[in-house]
Amino acid sequence: MDSGDFPGLIAHGKRVRAMCADPELTGELLAVGVAMSAILDVKAAPKLSLYQIHILAFGPDDQEIPMECARTGRMRPGRAGYAIRGDARRYAPPYPEAKCLAPTPRKKHCGRKANHFGLLTDWSTGEQYRHAACNRHREWYRDTWKANQEAKPEDGGPLPYANTGGVLARHFPEVNWVKLWSKLDPHWEPYPERPEQQPAKPTLELVVDQPNREAAEQGDLLNMDPPGRPALFAVSATR
Ligand SMILES: [Zn+2]
Repeated sequence: MDSGDFPGLIAHGKRVRAMCADPELTGELLAVGVAMSAILDVKAAPKLSLYQIHILAFGPDDQEIPMECARTGRMRPGRAGYAIRGDARRYAPPYPEAKCLAPTPRKKHCGRKANHFGLLTDWSTGEQYRHAACNRHREWYRDTWKANQEAKPEDGGPLPYANTGGVLARHFPEVNWVKLWSKLDPHWEPYPERPEQQPAKPTLELVVDQPNREAAEQGDLLNMDPPGRPALFAVSATR
């Protein structure tokens, strides 16, 4: 038997290798990705649904299975749905700043421990940046925040460029992610992408030792060959 007889399995292996080589794709999201590939590439389930993804990724006994709520009639997305929703492509503002950012006559920033935290918006780009002040600079904090709010354009200004999420989407170009993310989160909206060249994705390749390939192809982990005859040999992964 030659695995080349099963193009779906080859495609599955290729997709799983690429996902494992993606440093941002880990944990439950990776399990969801492997299940999606099993359905799309190997036809492990009749259709790509949150339910089927959940069964393959987390097993039928997992508590957070997708289901319809009997009381409200709403669909609970389940563990797979929450993982996909958490990976929606979006803009994430910076974390709060711990030190006072008020300018002083001597220093660019005061630097004392901040007691007031918030975000200001650059209305020309939609991007947010940190705003923080100590108690001494409370008024500066309030005035700056108020001035920033008053400068808000009537139409709300542009949406900022997306800067996080969309990790799983990189590996499944055939899925309509905009539709899926909108369905899982009615408040989600498509953020624009920053026009820049994406770095090349790392790929993993299996390097097989040619002279022993036939022996390896005949190997069977359930019916092990007698000792002395190699059933398996090492394969190495290279970038
Ligand atoms: Zn201060």
